[in-house]
Amino acid sequence: MRILPLLRPTFLFLFVAGICCPDVSAQYDGATEVPQRFREGFQSITEKDSESLLSVLASSDFAGRGTGQEGFMKAAQWFSRQLADRGFQPAGEDGSWFQMLPFNVTQIDGEFTKLNIGETSVLSGDDFGVENYFGTFDGKLPVTFARVTKKRPEFEEGAFAGRLLVVQSANRISANDVLIVKGRPECVIVVDRDSRVRSQSVSQLTKTPSAVPLAKLGVTMANKLTAGCEISGDFFEEKNPEKNQLMTSSSEVDLQLRVDHESIDVPNVVGWYPGSDESLREEHVCIGAHLDHLGIQRGSVYPGADDNGSGSTSILQIARAIDTNALKPKRSVLLMAFCAEERGLLGSKYYAANPLRPLQDMICMLNIDMIGRNEESDKEPASENENTIHLVGSKKISNQLHELTLAANQHVNFVFEYDQEGVYNRSDHASFAKKGVPITFLFGGFTPHYHKPTDTLDGINFTKIANCARLDYLTLMMAAEHGHFEKNTDEDTTDSQQ
Ligand SMILES: [Zn+2]
Repeated sequence: MRILPLLRPTFLFLFVAGICCPDVSAQYDGATEVPQRFREGFQSITEKDSESLLSVLASSDFAGRGTGQEGFMKAAQWFSRQLADRGFQPAGEDGSWFQMLPFNVTQIDGEFTKLNIGETSVLSGDDFGVENYFGTFDGKLPVTFARVTKKRPEFEEGAFAGRLLVVQSANRISANDVLIVKGRPECVIVVDRDSRVRSQSVSQLTKTPSAVPLAKLGVTMANKLTAGCEISGDFFEEKNPEKNQLMTSSSEVDLQLRVDHESIDVPNVVGWYPGSDESLREEHVCIGAHLDHLGIQRGSVYPGADDNGSGSTSILQIARAIDTNALKPKRSVLLMAFCAEERGLLGSKYYAANPLRPLQDMICMLNIDMIGRNEESDKEPASENENTIHLVGSKKISNQLHELTLAANQHVNFVFEYDQEGVYNRSDHASFAKKGVPITFLFGGFTPHYHKPTDTLDGINFTKIANCARLDYLTLMMAAEHGHFEKNTDEDTTDSQQ
């Protein structure tokens, strides 16, 4: 690494003493000096800040930032205040920081909801739950048991009318399944090896709820139900049905279901840093990360320190760097913290469908997700991944953006890996790539803590978070000078994939 003349004595001393220095940017070995014009911003990014910001994001105050839960709303408010502190302007609806998305929250009434089999009552929980339905059902119904393969038997219109259909199917059963639409059962219980259903669930308002009550039941309980209906032997098995089988019983099953719902709005947080060149100001470079995680599920908090407290931390550090640097970006910067990524990239999809600034003015979109841990798998120990990062999708739309990212990385010196291109559609940049915006995606890789309550601050690599911020700060500043990137022709794309 080349050393700034002014800092040389300090560096030398620290090198000799063998201790780390929190005040100096810790690029990786072999990184080259940062161009003067980007230097103040670059140096404002510290490991210490990575740690203090992430400590807030992963704290119990935000309770895992679940979309539709209070913790996410608190995190979104906090995040917008951080952006204001960093000289950003609100770029949401009606001069606010927020772009609101409509959601539907359903909540199973755990006291009311039960299934009575003989003397036994099954309550909602691990063996029994209600999916994609809201309303109340309370009744006694005669029951039909069915095991159906991919190739289903022919059955008559209204075959299950007035009955409860308890079915195990080789295909997933949805509200508009032919068994329901044509068979017209009063109520359906799907038998599943994994019968767990979230007691609270959040979905998009546009999703149509099932017209009939649709519950789920575990295999063991389902066999207790058949036994209670005087059917001997285990009717349901732990594997997918291999032959079609239908059995009707005159016994009645007592079933109570209640699912309440309410409509709520959940925000994407949107900030804008106006470009210094008035004539280019409408054009913008975009940086984003999802702020949400899994929140509280079945009483457990999923703090999501790596996923994606780490990316949210990085983009706040980039915001600080932009605001600290004397030379401002020529074109504007759009910064977004998305909601509902964990629900299927819903926040970014919504923005891409309802952009607050014209998408054709978006030069590029840089996404950061899960960059706080060293990748770890059976094949790769974490210790091998101290300074690696996956640079995903950067060649897909514009090789020029890929080249620019490589140039920026000379000053950070991450070891880029390209063996996780399979995640290309699995984070928020995908919503923009689909609209033809050149993207890059920084991804740290999977670890044993992925989507577990153990994704806490323990074992977080703060240098990696800071270095992702450094890299994307430089990429963003350089892209803001560069302007629109040439898009690949089909030929380029084929070349770059080789
Ligand atoms: Zn994520």
